[in-house]
Amino acid sequence: MSTRPHVVIAGAGYAGLAAFLALRGQVESGSLQVEIVNADDRHLLLPELPLFLAGKNGEDQVRLHLKRILPKDVRLIVARVESIDVSGPALVCHGTTGRIPCDGLIVTLGSIPSDFGVPGVKENSIPIGRWDDIAALRQQLLEDLHGKSGRNVAVIGGGFTGVEIAADLAEQAQREQSHLIVTLIGPGILPSMPDEMQQRAAAGLRQLDVRFVSGRVRAVEPGKVCLASGPVVEAETIVWAAGVQANPVLSHSGLRVNHRGQVTADPFLRIAPRVFGAGDCVQVIDTKTHRPIAPTAQAALQSGPAAGWNLLRDLQGQELLPFHPKDRGFLVSLGRHNATGTVSGHNVQGGDAAALKRVIELYHAFQVGGLHALAHQLVQAAH
Ligand SMILES: Cc1cc2nc3c(=O)[nH]c(=O)nc-3n(C[C@H](O)[C@H](O)[C@H](O)COP(=O)(O)OP(=O)(O)OC[C@H]3O[C@@H](n4cnc5c(N)ncnc54)[C@H](O)[C@@H]3O)c2cc1C
Repeated sequence: MSTRPHVVIAGAGYAGLAAFLALRGQVESGSLQVEIVNADDRHLLLPELPLFLAGKNGEDQVRLHLKRILPKDVRLIVARVESIDVSGPALVCHGTTGRIPCDGLIVTLGSIPSDFGVPGVKENSIPIGRWDDIAALRQQLLEDLHGKSGRNVAVIGGGFTGVEIAADLAEQAQREQSHLIVTLIGPGILPSMPDEMQQRAAAGLRQLDVRFVSGRVRAVEPGKVCLASGPVVEAETIVWAAGVQANPVLSHSGLRVNHRGQVTADPFLRIAPRVFGAGDCVQVIDTKTHRPIAPTAQAALQSGPAAGWNLLRDLQGQELLPFHPKDRGFLVSLGRHNATGTVSGHNVQGGDAAALKRVIELYHAFQVGGLHALAHQLVQAAH
């Protein structure tokens, strides 16, 4: 190994950029060389997407240019990773980029929407995954919002993403006095959250005139969501926000993965010698509850730096430190001025919770994108 180890970070999402920020001091002092490989030249602020879909955010507020936010001493390689060779270690990328050998690797390739085998999802609904789909969905939703006749939008998935998309869209419809009807479909509203939070979210959605249909989806047909219990919900636009699975590059690379496709890492986030993982694509067991932690931005922002620091220790022959995720709580938006959740064990709701969520999002934009990104977000917030 050279005196200046060469580290590659696969993925420039929440975990990847957080890992880079942890290593930044070493890069600046010239003791580490870092390359970041990402499928495109943007960092996507996923938690901002519900507002973008409702027409409130512009593309520049949700997709930050990586070249603008990364310092000059880091090389960005825009390429699609096809597989991971943990024995090298090395990344194998599509096209002319080919194989990128390195001294240490951090895998943060995130997740993709999962259809859970439900027939017709791919053909008849729009998932929150690829940017092209997201941009097309926004266009479609804006046409629905501004259409003269009453249009129906069905959002499938009662988790955080589905709730936030339905709420932001319905709030925008109220604001614009649109005839849009928003229906949220799922087995429950935030079913994995405590009862009180479920009830607060349900009340917030009712205030925004979001209809809720409880049930499991059996199939999605053109213009129709068919529930296992029989009823059919008709909608011109169907959004699939029912869940994710880890990036399939991991299983295609022959790595050991769980039922969600997440690679299993040891308590140090190590997948193999000098290969570490973080974010949605890695199964992390909470050492307190002994249960896997949920794939969230919060988890990615904690596991990214932990993976970075442990890779550094590994390269320097130092003892690794186990990763202990801290549950700082969770917040779900119910439109721009309402939210519910818990922060540090305290229930928060209403305008205070919404303001807190906004501050967290602004802080992330500032951390990764500096003042330029923060200014963009503040301009949007002022509208
Ligand atoms: C609509 C929506 C709203 C959300 N809201 C919240 C929220 O309010 N709070 C919260 O905590 N979490 C939220 N989440 C979840 C959160 O965004 C994710 O848990 C988080 O982004 C995971 O970070 P990550 O770095 O693992 O993956 P990502 O942030 O998805 O980053 C993965 C990166 O890898 C790149 N990549 C993927 N495949 C390849 C490849 N083959 N080659 C090269 N690069 C590749 C991608 O381009 C991307 O830059 C939301 C998710 C969605 C979809």
